[in-house]
Amino acid sequence: PRLANQIAAGEVVERPSSVIKELLENSLDAGATRVEVDVEDGGIKLMRVRDNGGGIDKSDLPLALSRHATSKIRELDDLEAVATLGFRGEALASISSVARLTLTSNTSDESAGWQVTAEGRDMQAELAPAAHPKGTTVEVRDLFFNTPARRKFLRTEKTEYNHLDDVIKRQALSRFDVAFTLRNNNRAVYSWREASTQIERERRVAQVCGPAFMEQALHIDIERSGLRLWGWVAQPSFNRSQADLQHFYVNGRAIRDKLVGHAVRQAYQDVLYHGRHPAFVLYLEVDPSTVDVNVHPTKHEVRFRDNRRVHDFIFSSLHHALAQVRP
Ligand code: ADP
Ligand code: MG
Repeated sequence: PRLANQIAAGEVVERPSSVIKELLENSLDAGATRVEVDVEDGGIKLMRVRDNGGGIDKSDLPLALSRHATSKIRELDDLEAVATLGFRGEALASISSVARLTLTSNTSDESAGWQVTAEGRDMQAELAPAAHPKGTTVEVRDLFFNTPARRKFLRTEKTEYNHLDDVIKRQALSRFDVAFTLRNNNRAVYSWREASTQIERERRVAQVCGPAFMEQALHIDIERSGLRLWGWVAQPSFNRSQADLQHFYVNGRAIRDKLVGHAVRQAYQDVLYHGRHPAFVLYLEVDPSTVDVNVHPTKHEVRFRDNRRVHDFIFSSLHHALAQVRP
């Protein structure tokens, strides 16, 4: 089974940022309101994600590291309307097959916590007591230590760091109600408090996307027959041709989808842009039963039941908003 995990890891764990993504998703699924990330050497040496979520029961700790163990889907029907970010139950198993993983958790503030460790193929299933407040800490050391071929594909520390910084920012924009902290090589990089008011949310967007984006951004919020699109889009005056200032969320899940990308691009091009990269932070909310997120292991893509309706809604909503500020 450990070999199967390593094969699966090829799909889920491409680089440090893919580990961070899975760990953050688990923390959010666990209801955390505070997530602290620590990395060293671009995540290759160390990634540590600590949260204040619900924690994992002592008896479930070893199980959490085994393949297809997920606490999030009880029945097959649930696959039809997946509300949590994780649901495949293979992230921790995959990560632990190609790194040294320590999972420490506690489900209550009253008791002490428990810890379980796995290193490559040698799973050390024994539980050890470990002090931990309510919540979970996952520590991943020496990524790809036992798969040198995979390790060779990693880029410089700086490049890997930029990838994981990007992943954290994407998550930070998806959950304004959660505080995020990042430390790199033992130095604080950012610490974003929970944002509940509109002013606080706009402050976070400014922190993540830069004040220049927020200063000129157009706020939109459009709802029509069960679909809602809200967020911030750059005005024509915003002349920053950066592909990375494109954030799109479907029901809180960051996605990069052809259909969505096409609808957004078309709206921009139609109204005002000619070959420029549009910049936006947009949230689409749809009935969960009309969207399939189980398309790809990394879950960047989605499939809508009614493509045309979603495409037209995004296009016409943006078109309408942008046309009002046409230069
Ligand atoms: P999935 O998220 O697809 O269920 P994972 O391998 O990512 O699978 O995690 C396995 C299980 O471990 C989860 O279903 C969950 O029960 C538990 N788990 C992992 N991380 C956390 C966390 N930070 N807090 C609470 N439970 C967690
Ligand atoms: Mg998960």
